[in-house]
Amino acid sequence: MTLSIQTIVPILQAQTNCVQEDYDSSDSEQAKQIDSVSIDSRSLQNGPGTLFFALAGPNYDAHSYIANLIDTGVRQFVVSHIPQNLEGKACFLIVGNTLDALQQFAAYYRGLFDFPVIGITGSNGKTIVKEWLNFLLGPDYNIIRSPKSYNSQVGVPLSVVSINENHNLGIFEAGISTVNEMAKLELMIRPTIGLLTNIGTAHDEGFSNLGEKIREKLKLFAHTELLICHKNKTVEAFISQKVKTFTWSCKDESADVFIGKTASVDKTLLNVRHHGGKFDIRIPFQDDASIENAIQCLMVLLHFGYSHETIEQRMALLYPVEMRLKVKNGINNTTLIDDSYSSDFQSLKIALDFLESQKQYKKKTVILSDIFQSGLDTEELYSRVSQLIISNKIHRVIGIGETISAYKNKFVNCVTFKDTEAFAEAFDTLAFGNETILIKGARTFEFEKIVLLLEEKTHETVLEINLNAISHNLNFFKSKLNPETKLMVMVKAFGYGNGGFEIAKLLEHHHVDYLGVAFADEGISLKSAGIKLPIMVLNPETTSFQSIIQHGLEPEIYSLKGLKSFLQIAKQRKLEQFPIHIKIDTGMHRLGFEENNIDELIAILNENKSVKVKSILSHMATSDDLRFKDFALSQIARFEKLSSKLMQALQISPIRHILNTSGITNFREAQYDMVRLGIGLYGVSNDPEEQKKLENVGTLKSVISQIRSIPAGDSVGYGRRFIADKPAKIATIPIGYADGISRGWGNEKGFVTVKNKKAPIVGSVCMDMLMADVSGISCKEGDRVVIFGESPTVNEMAAALDTIPYEILTGISQRVKRVFYRE
Ligand SMILES: *Cc1c(COP(=O)(O)O)cnc(C)c1O
Repeated sequence: MTLSIQTIVPILQAQTNCVQEDYDSSDSEQAKQIDSVSIDSRSLQNGPGTLFFALAGPNYDAHSYIANLIDTGVRQFVVSHIPQNLEGKACFLIVGNTLDALQQFAAYYRGLFDFPVIGITGSNGKTIVKEWLNFLLGPDYNIIRSPKSYNSQVGVPLSVVSINENHNLGIFEAGISTVNEMAKLELMIRPTIGLLTNIGTAHDEGFSNLGEKIREKLKLFAHTELLICHKNKTVEAFISQKVKTFTWSCKDESADVFIGKTASVDKTLLNVRHHGGKFDIRIPFQDDASIENAIQCLMVLLHFGYSHETIEQRMALLYPVEMRLKVKNGINNTTLIDDSYSSDFQSLKIALDFLESQKQYKKKTVILSDIFQSGLDTEELYSRVSQLIISNKIHRVIGIGETISAYKNKFVNCVTFKDTEAFAEAFDTLAFGNETILIKGARTFEFEKIVLLLEEKTHETVLEINLNAISHNLNFFKSKLNPETKLMVMVKAFGYGNGGFEIAKLLEHHHVDYLGVAFADEGISLKSAGIKLPIMVLNPETTSFQSIIQHGLEPEIYSLKGLKSFLQIAKQRKLEQFPIHIKIDTGMHRLGFEENNIDELIAILNENKSVKVKSILSHMATSDDLRFKDFALSQIARFEKLSSKLMQALQISPIRHILNTSGITNFREAQYDMVRLGIGLYGVSNDPEEQKKLENVGTLKSVISQIRSIPAGDSVGYGRRFIADKPAKIATIPIGYADGISRGWGNEKGFVTVKNKKAPIVGSVCMDMLMADVSGISCKEGDRVVIFGESPTVNEMAAALDTIPYEILTGISQRVKRVFYRE
């Protein structure tokens, strides 16, 4: 992209406010050019040629990052207002709404190109169809496609602005959740060929009825020459007469393409009738969704006039699409980012941004295969890849493939191999350790073999943590806060069992104000891993004061004894204004100063300069149970009284906070200056209405180790506590009470989920294993089992076990591996 600021201004209908020298004198033409667009303040790819759109949402405002961006060299910003003190420091294009401006920009940019564009929408399968089409058409076109599932109001413009002169086919997906969204996406994608995958129930809540949903989706095809879709009367009624259709069906012979299906062991044979001709293709899938997605792709190939032989050859090679960038623990203290299914320039940029967000290790390695479909010639392509690698501060590049090997000299610290085999042979000499490794390769390179080599081997039970769900839940609770209320997030007990460091890292990205841990060592390990956020320690033992100070943690002080010993150490170390947090007991009767201590507390603090009261807090005993509302209100009243007394007597205005998760929900008026969010972040609420709005964070998964059939009358497990009353199929699953699954959950009280079906746990839960009755479920050894997640939920388990979700989450043993992912 090369565009001048002057061209863009009228398109965005922006008012300009630019630095004089940069933009008016004729000898600095260079500075006026923009070469890329960004909305991500964290990307190391931002530079002097970047046009940064400062998007803002209910809980997020990128205007606050502009000062930092100016420091890192970004010079052009699209804003809704100029942040304080920044006028004259950069070029600002001021618009009414920055997202609208981004979309207008993308629509304009799209208009500069004229080649076929396939626009995909529908309820399911969009991303898979897009990835498969990219694979099927890749040998013959320079394709620009939306990366991953960038299909939203923000994702689409970011995809579109990556088009370059050399592309000759576009494949973009469009996703909507409510009315009036599609028209905007259509303006940016401008598809010439439409593809409607299907209309299902996803996002139903955003539409008043099915007709409205169909009508909205079809708006993507307002200007297409052709619409490819399943022959379906309900949908047909809404398609405009002007749009030509190309339909398929497995039932209705009047469709343009009629398809017969025959399943075999691991394949499906499709018998295709088209234009009076007939031919067979085989696809390596058996499930209905994959078959339907494959047929959509087949339709595009037919429309493009491919020969039956080519269609047959290419479709036989379709593969499962991995839609997430997975973060895994690797050998020798490494973190792996597994993106082993695609290699193109656009998704490389995204993966590098993601790599940058994983700050566990300073050292970063990229294992990269030859790159396909950049639309650039190889010389130019590898020069650009090299620039990306440099701007992302990558320490080492391992190139795999003949082309990347030929351009080895473009990279600084680089080794190359001709193929994945050669890499595997040299594996032991590559000394992987203490680093984050991005593994990114085109499918043909089979980088999953590299992942297998690098992945830490543990048993097959994992707790999968959905980082996007955590962000969602965080934003949900933020939206309940007054704009100026600060947010402390409790990451004690290893992030409620979900992983301390990774979650802390994510929270740092989200600019929360404080973290809270229970003990000093939890805080120390976060600080040592590089977390910069201030951390409050709820329960600092006197013996840990020295290391609290050393690591810059902030203690909660809850007694005169604790205060005195902290002050003694603070004086020895000649500290000044060291931040401490004063806890008041307002009725919980766990930790905290009581009313009759307050005068002495004031007296001590008044004659002391070595500490500073950063905050005053208390904790509620009944914020979750409105039957005790009066008690809760009395705690708040007492907090008001005692904290005010302290503030007046000490002439200070510290942060005050009393609410935990359920307090945020039930006592909004007591937000004071900060709240302490805990369990809600991890997707659990005790309010059923609120629960619906939270996303599930942790899914505990295992596999079936063995399956056996037993006759009626046989028993299962210790003490013969289960006797089959009819012949049964029993699966053994390698997770037990040593992993944190309560014995109370056995003996048919609890269940696991296999292939989306409930399988009751039979017999007693053992130390490392449990058995489930999978009679009537079509499953085999090695299949995945969900222990908790969407079903059963942690709430359900807690209710059945007569405990609370907190105990179940924090009880999952540390020997269970945590795997983090983003959707
Ligand atoms: C754990 C804890 C919280 C968070 O409680 P949730 O119910 O998980 O939101 C808040 N404050 C203190 C003092 C805590 O110990």
